[in-house]
Amino acid sequence: MIYLFCGILSGAVLGAICVPLFKKDDTLESAIIEETEWDLLQRKKEVILGNIQDLDFEYKCGKLSDGDYQKIRGEMSAEAAKVLLEIETLESTKDLDALIRREISARKAKVKPAPQTIACSSCGASNPPSNKFCAECGAKLKR
Ligand SMILES: [Zn+2]
Repeated sequence: MIYLFCGILSGAVLGAICVPLFKKDDTLESAIIEETEWDLLQRKKEVILGNIQDLDFEYKCGKLSDGDYQKIRGEMSAEAAKVLLEIETLESTKDLDALIRREISARKAKVKPAPQTIACSSCGASNPPSNKFCAECGAKLKR
C-alpha cells in the first residue's frame, strides 16, 4: 500500500515539475510573452518548494514512514538546491542589468513591427506598403 502511495506521490511530483517545463503552447500571446530561462527556474523553484511543504505536511499527519519521508525529502531538497544554484548562476554570471537588457531586446525582437515602407527594386525609392507600384518610377513593387 505504501509503495502504491509513493508511486502516486512521486508521479504527481514529477508531473508537477515536468509538465510546465515541456508545455509549449503556440498561441500568439505566448510567443510574445514567452517565458525566459529565469522565469522558468523561478516557477520550478516554487513548485519544488510547494512539494516539500506538502510532503512535510503529509509526514506530520503520519501518512509517511520516516524512511520514505527522509528519502523523498532528500530527493526534493537536492532538486531544489539544483534549481537555486541554477538561478544563482544565471543571476551572477550575467549581471542583472545585462540580463534584463537581453531579455527586453529578446522580447522586442519577437514583436516585429510591420515594415513602414517598401523599397523599389528598380530605383530604390521608399514607398508606403499600400502602394502596388513605385511612386517614383512606376515599377511594380515586390513584397
Ligand atoms: Zn521606383
